Amino acid sequence: MTKQYDVVVIGSGPAGYVAAIRCAQLGLRTACIEKWLNKDNKTVYGGTCLNVGCIPSKALLDSSHKYVEAQQHLDAHGIKVNEVAIDVPAMVGRKDKIVTQLTAGVKGLFTANKVDGIAGTAKLIAKDRVLVTDHEGNEAALAAKHIIIASGSVPIDIPQTPIDHETIVDSTGALEFQEVPKRLGVIGAGVIGLELGSVWSRMGAEVTVLEALDDFLPAVDRQIAREGLKIFGRQGLTIKLGARVTGSKLSKGRNKTVTVEYTDTDGKQKIQFDKLIVAVGRRPYTAALLDDSVAVELDERGYILVDEQCATNVPGVYAVGDVVRGPMLAHKGMEEGVMVAERIADKKTQVNYDLVPTVIYTHPEIAWVGKNEAELEEAGTEYNVGSFPFAANGRALAANDADGLVKLIADARTDRILGCHLIGASAADLLQQIVIAMEFSASAEDIGLTMFSHPALSEAIHEAALAANGHAIHIGNRKRRK
Ligand code: FAD
Ligand code: AMP
Repeated sequence: MTKQYDVVVIGSGPAGYVAAIRCAQLGLRTACIEKWLNKDNKTVYGGTCLNVGCIPSKALLDSSHKYVEAQQHLDAHGIKVNEVAIDVPAMVGRKDKIVTQLTAGVKGLFTANKVDGIAGTAKLIAKDRVLVTDHEGNEAALAAKHIIIASGSVPIDIPQTPIDHETIVDSTGALEFQEVPKRLGVIGAGVIGLELGSVWSRMGAEVTVLEALDDFLPAVDRQIAREGLKIFGRQGLTIKLGARVTGSKLSKGRNKTVTVEYTDTDGKQKIQFDKLIVAVGRRPYTAALLDDSVAVELDERGYILVDEQCATNVPGVYAVGDVVRGPMLAHKGMEEGVMVAERIADKKTQVNYDLVPTVIYTHPEIAWVGKNEAELEEAGTEYNVGSFPFAANGRALAANDADGLVKLIADARTDRILGCHLIGASAADLLQQIVIAMEFSASAEDIGLTMFSHPALSEAIHEAALAANGHAIHIGNRKRRK
């Protein structure tokens, strides 16, 4: 017998599980199908984000940051530590426990909200019908008025460096090293490459990042990217820009090494590593998902084509998260999941795609929202910039963590905030204040007139907003009108 639902969600990553929960909250009978099996062959919900993405990477970033603090920075506080050692399996084990806790949490949320979590691989066989094949090969059909595809993304592999899951790994393998590699290569200086490169560099690996582009973090404000490059270099990451990887060779025998070939302005180069992380981006994942008879349209890069409200070309079928256009970020998918659920329930919700914050969780963190100077210059928009360095922020100095700056950009005519760019400790959390402000169309003056607790890192945002109008208090003012 075919089980009938109002909504079937395919995939339980942040886009899918949030969509499913919101649908159920709105009174819709909802199922969410997930094919992910963990190391113990158990079905787990939460997708890339909880299993091998945002959360495990942050767990290792936090552990490795504490190690560096203990090893290098406690001295400055007058704290003497005799010996600091790391136990990599314990660190990786702690990460696994957090993953287990959070994936179990999603299961608990499904139960609490009466979402049917279903283990198996889904295939869309009609616009209102999904075939589920469980891990024993049994098939069952589900019928639903609305189907939400949230099948996510997978790492891109390149033929020059085929993943062998031992010496050459993708981001998933890089979360599982059981010892610190002596020489670690990373291909790609994007968000994931920088975060995972930082983890292992902090633990003592000699890390070289090979990046094909000549520019470092081209999507980031130029001043912030330059500052980041300087700081990461000081931390021991060797970042080679303009280095395009062209091939690789694994050594024979046990304890393999890999020799990576690349070209740069000096011609052909070679470099040997004990481990190599391939972090050249992710691609949308729709393998064996769409039956030809349904004709859901994809674009030329394999993303499911959707409109601003995440509707596909097939009525009643929606797609959200990494499998559709836009930045591959968990929170972007979550908001899309909520939007689609609410639209199915006849609400007029809309994601504000102009205000998707992005964060690189290195230390210091890099975070931004809205437009940067290059984009505004290209658009011919006149703007004011206010900057404030953390070196002039009392709380950052008290914490001995004063690298970086805040940059706030406001429209020169209306003073409305157009963007905010940070590099600094807790940049992600600091930025969120401006994301909220921008949602309410705040001006730099509005932020300037808001009272901020003292002493706090967020005072740097206050001062940057004041500086945008030429009257920062704790730094000399250089009003800049373009
Ligand atoms: P996914 O999380 O990929 O989930 C898709 C799910 O669908 C999977 O569980 C998959 O098994 C399931 N599925 C696919 N096909 C089928 C099928 N046919 N049947 C049943 N189930 C199916 N983003 C951030 O915002 N912040 C970060 O700090 C961050 N850090 C990251 C770090 C790393 C190392 C990586 C790899 C990613 C990181 N991301 C981060 C990106 C983030 O993980 C993704 O943007 C997010 O997980 C996408 O959510 P999603 O629900 O669209 O897809
Ligand atoms: P992101 O898409 O942000 O995860 O970043 C991936 C990075 O990998 C991009 O900056 C690409 O330029 C880089 N990249 C892709 N292919 C290669 C290659 N063959 N050699 C070096 N870098 C690469």
